[in-house]
Amino acid sequence: TPPLLELSDLRVTLPVRGQRQPVLHGVDLSLAAGTSVGLVGESGSGKSMTARAVLGLLPDGARRDGEIRFDGVPLTGSDAAALRRLRTHDAAMVFQDPRAHINPVRTIGDFLTEALVHTRGTGRRDAETKVTALLADVGVPDAARRLRQRPAELSGGLLQRVMIAAALAVEPRLLLADEPTTALDVTTQAEVMAVIDEARAARGLAMLFITHDLALAAAVCDRIAVMYAGTIVEELPADRLHDDARHPYTRALLASRPDPGDEDGVLRAITGRPLSAFEAGEGCAFAPRCPQAEDVCRIRRPPLRAAADGLAACHLVTAADVGGAAPDADRS
Ligand code: SF4
Ligand code: MG
Repeated sequence: TPPLLELSDLRVTLPVRGQRQPVLHGVDLSLAAGTSVGLVGESGSGKSMTARAVLGLLPDGARRDGEIRFDGVPLTGSDAAALRRLRTHDAAMVFQDPRAHINPVRTIGDFLTEALVHTRGTGRRDAETKVTALLADVGVPDAARRLRQRPAELSGGLLQRVMIAAALAVEPRLLLADEPTTALDVTTQAEVMAVIDEARAARGLAMLFITHDLALAAAVCDRIAVMYAGTIVEELPADRLHDDARHPYTRALLASRPDPGDEDGVLRAITGRPLSAFEAGEGCAFAPRCPQAEDVCRIRRPPLRAAADGLAACHLVTAADVGGAAPDADRS
């Protein structure tokens, strides 16, 4: 069976001061049904843009190339019907800032009812029962009261649960979660993360979980994909991260700890600032910050190649590194 979601050489450019500038540089990623991938990287690395490209939610003027396949079927940027079907039946997104994605004037009940009516075609009378059940699923008690309230009357954590309920209303097969807990306080973060995790497991959903927090991604996801300057630089099983990660950027992320109060996700333990995809030239985009950079790194972009149980894009990661299983000298 094909992967549920497959991105092949996904490229996105934006018009900036009259020129097309790349924001995604050829993203290759595959997500099997019912599994989760943590898409990890610093602010501006292209994580959100990747998720938006999947849902056809790119900014005005953006141009997309490469291929996105859902359940084996290519989604072209111009196929409005296929994108609408994806957004109303197959995939749903939870954003970092729920208040930017909900009408402040309408009640929570109206919001969730609309989500059901518009996506699943649920009748309005059935919708009320379903909405109450959805709120119970995301751990919101006293649904009757909440449904009459407006977004401003709910805490950030409660509102994010409502947004998760709205995403679940789609009965998606794929959940895209873009820093869903970053704006919340630490205790609420853990609660909301648990809600997402349980809902996902109970429904067998695939999830693309976007975060700048590598440790969180490793705790929640089956696989980890590390992004840098608009491309994936390493991909591997989450439980192999500490032992098998080979890319110097992933190793640097593992060695650093994000500043807990740091919402922009810049990893201060790695010297230098990340290059944006705009600035990435011919060579490896990590070269200016890489302690192991060699001459070749500044000339040629390393391709994403098989390494251990995953993939890595680094000139120093060779076949001999694969799985730590170099040709066995003792065999003879
Ligand atoms: Fe560092 Fe070179 Fe590998 Fe890039 S290709 S991560 S610069 S060693
Ligand atoms: Mg983002």
